[in-house]
Amino acid sequence: MPFRDIYGQEHAIDLLNEAIHRDRMPHAWLFTGQSNIGKFKTAVAVAQKLNCRKSGEDACGKCDFCLQIAAQSFPDYQVLIPDGKLIKIDQIRNSLNWLYLHPDQAKKRVMILDGAQYLGREAANAFLKTLEEPAPHTLLILIAESTQQLLETIVSRCHQIRFRPLSVEISERILRETTDLTDDRIQLLSAFGMGSVSGNLVASFELMQIVQNTAIRWLTTFSPKTLEEMLRTCEMWGKSKNEEWRLLLDFLETWFRDLTWLLHGLPEENLINRTANSEESRISALRNCGEYFNLQQIYEIFGRITELRRAIDLNANKSLAIESLCLHLYRTAA
Ligand SMILES: [Zn+2]
Repeated sequence: MPFRDIYGQEHAIDLLNEAIHRDRMPHAWLFTGQSNIGKFKTAVAVAQKLNCRKSGEDACGKCDFCLQIAAQSFPDYQVLIPDGKLIKIDQIRNSLNWLYLHPDQAKKRVMILDGAQYLGREAANAFLKTLEEPAPHTLLILIAESTQQLLETIVSRCHQIRFRPLSVEISERILRETTDLTDDRIQLLSAFGMGSVSGNLVASFELMQIVQNTAIRWLTTFSPKTLEEMLRTCEMWGKSKNEEWRLLLDFLETWFRDLTWLLHGLPEENLINRTANSEESRISALRNCGEYFNLQQIYEIFGRITELRRAIDLNANKSLAIESLCLHLYRTAA
């Protein structure tokens, strides 16, 4: 996918193009930003641009080199992703051996580390040596959500580019071009994408509706019966391979963001949950829920959601984690 097919990241692409044209490529880039906004696609486009057989402003996307890079079959190109939960030391060792070979056909050997935050400690230390003594004709591209998840020594040896969240317009455009979804659904998914387009979200559209409607019922009726249902459902969602817990957290963030908006008396047209349901107004449900929470409590809830995501990343029990969040919501409201 050449640069021209990547939407909403003009700032990043300008920086990359400038470095390429001035022949000032660092030996390692670090792309940061939330998931599903085009960081990996951009990394692939860099590898194509550097190796494309045609010399143009952008990679052609059609020559044998461009196609092999897209298919990950180009001999001088590697993508490293976690094997299980981590990028392991053996993976790094194999790749480092490969990196120091002279390029087979490429002008520039490119290695992409997608999920650099999952470098295990040993792997990170081994990798650090490569960053300190880079192999010639080689470009490393590390991808992570934020620098906070990485060793400072790694961050300081890379040239960072921050990728921006996608606007609703760009999200809608990407969904229109890449899916057969109806306009209604496209609007809804763009609103809930919070600046990203996740393939996953498109596939789990129906599930998202179920999770959201269930959560809205909880958030507007805080009775002991609700609590019982909350805890039972959380246990199920935490264990399910469909990852309803993730949809729940994403939704709660939009919901409490909207609530903050309403409590500040800001205009309703900017609510994320405004477009969400044509049958019944989510705005009245939001107003109803607003009776239960004040701003201070909402900020605390945001903090808990962030902590919870971090705990789950570190392998916490998902059912227990979301149960405790729901219990906190209930205690605060009831
Ligand atoms: Zn090409």
